[in-house]
Amino acid sequence: MSSDDSNKRSVGFTSENGKFLGVLPESSRDYLGPLVLIAVCPAFVIVLWHTICNLDGSFLLLLKELKANGPGYIRDIWPSPVDGEAWKLIGSYAAFELALMRIVPGRRFEATATATGHVPVYKANGMASFAITLAAYALLVAAGWDSGVVYDKLGEILSGLCVFSLAFCAALYFKGLYAPSTRDSGTNGAGPLKDYFWGTELYPRVLGWDVKQFTNCRFGMMFWAVGLLCYAHRQAREHGAVSDSMAVSVLLQLVYIAKFFHWEMGYMCTMDIQHDRAGYYICWGCLVWVPSVYTSAGMYLTRHPVHLGAPLALAITAAGIACIWANYDADRQRQHFRAVGGRCAIWGRPAEAIEATYDNGRGGTSRSLLLCSGWWGLSRHFHYVTEISSAFLWSVPALFHNAAPYFYVVFLVILLVDRAYRDDVRCRGKYGKFWDQYCQRVPYKIIPGVL
Ligand code: NDP
Repeated sequence: MSSDDSNKRSVGFTSENGKFLGVLPESSRDYLGPLVLIAVCPAFVIVLWHTICNLDGSFLLLLKELKANGPGYIRDIWPSPVDGEAWKLIGSYAAFELALMRIVPGRRFEATATATGHVPVYKANGMASFAITLAAYALLVAAGWDSGVVYDKLGEILSGLCVFSLAFCAALYFKGLYAPSTRDSGTNGAGPLKDYFWGTELYPRVLGWDVKQFTNCRFGMMFWAVGLLCYAHRQAREHGAVSDSMAVSVLLQLVYIAKFFHWEMGYMCTMDIQHDRAGYYICWGCLVWVPSVYTSAGMYLTRHPVHLGAPLALAITAAGIACIWANYDADRQRQHFRAVGGRCAIWGRPAEAIEATYDNGRGGTSRSLLLCSGWWGLSRHFHYVTEISSAFLWSVPALFHNAAPYFYVVFLVILLVDRAYRDDVRCRGKYGKFWDQYCQRVPYKIIPGVL
């Protein structure tokens, strides 16, 4: 697809050999992407689960089945979305996390003010809630609970979440239009489908609970950790012990998730929260896509244990922890640099910065700083390199018998490349010539010298 410069309201389509195929009006493009993602992602989640858990992770076998049975195959493998046991697991887990959000103490955190002047306020109790969740899991298992049931019921759990989350996003759509929590709400101006996809509200709250903190952090990210532990338990039930490959993969992911909760208030100041509204893209994604796709390497390892041996297991663990640390340090560097107004040392030298001004949308001008040294001097999104490397390192314990455990890595590459482009567009719109200056000093988007 290539943009048609002569007509900003249309998008030209070309085939792979460059033949011009036609023009799609901008309004259709606004609809097409969201429509395809809303229609395809739920089925994709179920197909991925089925391929990993029932077809040995073989996409070739999946293709054979699809060829033999036609598209009706997807309907036939689709687990019930109203399974009682699955809903008991989902309901008790969600209720527990909602209760932790409310009762676990934490300091008050004020995030960046929005264009309407709204200052989102959070209770910084993410790390404590993560620790309590893991402790509660350990107590339940010690008391005899077979947490492997989560793996056994995963199809029904994902199916139930798919359907519930579609309805939940519809409720958020109406809430944003008719009963918003803040003035950062309303239609995006391109019709109901785009509104449903992107959301109609930036900071929805229901009965005092922040919706995005719940869906993104306390449901999606927390399930990622708990789900992996349940898968490892299921492996131990079937194979008598947890394999070293599973142990390495789960350990690295737990370190990554612990890092996330340690930095949860920093996350509340990122694009997901400050720019993306609570719609299908973010909320359905965190309620369904994260529990399925993000845990897919562990899902695969559950029934395909690999013996790595101590030297390889230790080498992968060390490399994985180094990448997770570098990713954390890049986020921390930027946050600290901004918090102290640029007066800090980065890698032993005074921080290099560009002082930028931008229209704050309230009739005035605000000032901001762009860091040009440290991780942020290597490329404009070097932290995405370490994010992808970490994901590769917790997938590689599966070795190379099958492509399925690498699905998340491939997805992450696509997501983060797209995100780097989206962020560049947003920052150029916000900072104008100051962003161009930053791009001149740090010319690469992601990989220094390459991209
Ligand atoms: P970033 O950390 O890339 O932050 C982007 C924002 O930072 C920009 O919009 C701009 O915001 C500000 N900024 C950009 N350049 C500079 C600079 N040089 N100096 C100071 N500020 C700058 O946001 P992400 O949300 O993409 O990433 C946050 C973390 O989440 C990362 O660790 C990333 O790897 C991870 N992540 C993980 C994903 C996953 O699915 N596993 C998906 C996405 C992210 P402004 O100036 O307006 O404040």
